[in-house]
Amino acid sequence: MSTYRFQTLQTLLGRTPLKVDPPSNKVSEFYGESVFNVDAMKKHLTDDAYDSVMEAIKNGDRIDRKMADQVAAGMREWALSKGATHYTHWFQPLTGRTAEKHDAFFEPAEGGRAIERFGGSQLVQQEPDASSLPSGGIRNTFEARGYTAWDPTSPAFIFGKTLCIPTVFVSYTGEALDFKTPLLNSISVLDKAAVAVCQYFDKNVTKVTATLGWEQEYFLIDYALYTARPDIALTGRTLFGHSSSKGQQLDDHYFGSIHDRAVAFMKELEIESHKLGIPVKTRHNEVAPNQFECAPVFEEVNLAVDHNQLIMDVMEKVGRKHNFYIALHEKPFAGMNGSGKHNNWSMATDTGVNLLSPGKTPKTNFRFLTFFVNTLKAVHDYADLIRASIASAGNDHRLGANEAPPAIISAFIGSELTSILDEIEKTVKPGKMTPDEKSQLKLRVGRIPDILLDNTDRNRTSPFAFTGNKFELRAVGSTANCAGPMTVLNTVMAKQLRDFKKEVDALIISGQKKDDAIFSILKRYIIESKNIRFEGNGYGDAWVKEAEKRGLSNVKTTPHALDFFLDKKVKDLFKATKVLTPTELEARYEILNENYKLKVQIESRVIGDIAINHIIPAAFQYQNMLLENVKGMKDVFGDQYQELAETQIEELREVSERVNRIKKLVYEMVEERKIANKIEDASKQAKQYCEKVFPFFEKIRYEVDKLEIVIDDNLWPLPKYRELLFAK
Ligand code: ADP
Ligand code: MG
Repeated sequence: MSTYRFQTLQTLLGRTPLKVDPPSNKVSEFYGESVFNVDAMKKHLTDDAYDSVMEAIKNGDRIDRKMADQVAAGMREWALSKGATHYTHWFQPLTGRTAEKHDAFFEPAEGGRAIERFGGSQLVQQEPDASSLPSGGIRNTFEARGYTAWDPTSPAFIFGKTLCIPTVFVSYTGEALDFKTPLLNSISVLDKAAVAVCQYFDKNVTKVTATLGWEQEYFLIDYALYTARPDIALTGRTLFGHSSSKGQQLDDHYFGSIHDRAVAFMKELEIESHKLGIPVKTRHNEVAPNQFECAPVFEEVNLAVDHNQLIMDVMEKVGRKHNFYIALHEKPFAGMNGSGKHNNWSMATDTGVNLLSPGKTPKTNFRFLTFFVNTLKAVHDYADLIRASIASAGNDHRLGANEAPPAIISAFIGSELTSILDEIEKTVKPGKMTPDEKSQLKLRVGRIPDILLDNTDRNRTSPFAFTGNKFELRAVGSTANCAGPMTVLNTVMAKQLRDFKKEVDALIISGQKKDDAIFSILKRYIIESKNIRFEGNGYGDAWVKEAEKRGLSNVKTTPHALDFFLDKKVKDLFKATKVLTPTELEARYEILNENYKLKVQIESRVIGDIAINHIIPAAFQYQNMLLENVKGMKDVFGDQYQELAETQIEELREVSERVNRIKKLVYEMVEERKIANKIEDASKQAKQYCEKVFPFFEKIRYEVDKLEIVIDDNLWPLPKYRELLFAK
């Protein structure tokens, strides 16, 4: 066995699960202890400062400088009491993870002393030198000035020894350079539009918040094995690897018990998350071996997004301690289940109502139907934008492959709701309905079971499924920042609700009764959005054909999906809702294309490196073994050797042929890369990488994976799928 491989496997032997003790067996005793939450604020802030933060959270008001100084003083006192030494503005640049620049609390003072310093100005705004973060041409790199500004709606927290202050990140000229800014905008437009529609049903509603409950899938890979796989280390996924004789076909992992090392990791992950106020609640095995999922209780969407970004960091930190690499990639293993991040989305009122939950009375059900049908219409009208919002190099591998929804956006609503929509379509007449028809319809609407969950046979193959009291967007990739798709969902919904309100009001002004007006607009929406509804098997080929007939897009690759961002309709949408300016939208388009290119470029280089300096040398060693063997056979058997050494000779030939093909393919791929690298336009370059460079990956991999099953197991330089997937 190659010494490297042998050593890495050796380190695995005798590895026992770490012992994890929670600070207390009552989670309530340590939950949120690292968060500057309401309790901490009450304790450490003056009454005035506390009130001003609460106002800012409620109304999005700014906090004035004097008050900011007071808030900062309280926050500092709290953070120091918890052992923090540094603070940072914590923000979400368009690269997808979080960014931070740590500053120490202390400042040198006269006489060689130091004082602890963190004032209002440090709390409210910072100017990180962020010239190397992507800006899509908005910021001249030599100007390098973006700034971060405090988002009081998401509480500060301590991670490690650092006080983290959630912030937005904008250019000096005020353009959003991050995920949070447009998300906050979308939350506020949806709030206004949804409140206006709620007024038809309940005058007491004054605020509507979008809610998100994410489910994070991931793989655990033993850290020793991970270090021996340059592809995972540099790209997050395996670029080579023959499938293991046993994979996920027995489905024994999904229902199996979680192995001890994984349980220890999860326990600690949960403890750390709870200290940070992340309400993780469920954990279970996923379809593939060593694949798992964790999910929290849903929260207001801004907080939920921050918590998801944060938990990815917590996972890494805790994983390292337990000797695990956390593979968050959408497709770490070819031919196995990929990882997604289901986004459960709904809207809640300040009167305690979930707007996508059927109620107990005809009136509340009418409201539910209104929001439900408007969601379908919004998703129908902007399906392509939703597709664009989930596009990434990693997600391209997942969509449409092994237990993941296809790249076609459709909605599943279940038989119960389908029949109700059909009935509305049949019964509602233009203009006035007879009192009889009306009471019939109301009766039917009143009969929507309040627990649809049990009545809907859950369809697991739909990218956008109604699951009883929320929609579940399942097409989001596991590494994605949920803010991208959530901003889009909120925005299209806001636009839709605004249009709805306008149309209903027009009918009311023309003399129609409110209920009639709502029904007649809903009926039209039901008809217009029909082709987005699909109840069948989303994984089947039949659906691909059917979707094509319906005129639904099926765009499989990122650079092409991103083009939807430039549709006039999309530009108009963002402009009208003021969620993104045209400049911001274009910058985003450029950055996402650039991200895609970089990912594929790096993968291509890693493939070349591994093929040339790991695989081919191993093949040569194996050939030498065979050559020696054949020579020996000749010495012993003379003329008979050819017949007796048939296998060795055949393998020698096969290995030579494959090695030559690998060498040639790598060379050709490099040439294509050179051509692509000369292209200036980000989108054209991404497309070139997608169409000309990427196709080599499969071809090279095919040859390498074949060598893997020929060459002596002891000589193979990379940990194999069976080791990566089944190591415990
Ligand atoms: P499962 O889909 O596994 O059966 P649930 O239906 O309970 O589990 O919920 C799945 C996820 O949906 C959880 O993260 C949960 O918090 C979230 N969720 C439940 N209700 C809502 C809601 N109103 N808005 C957003 N997310 C929700
Ligand atoms: Mg789910």
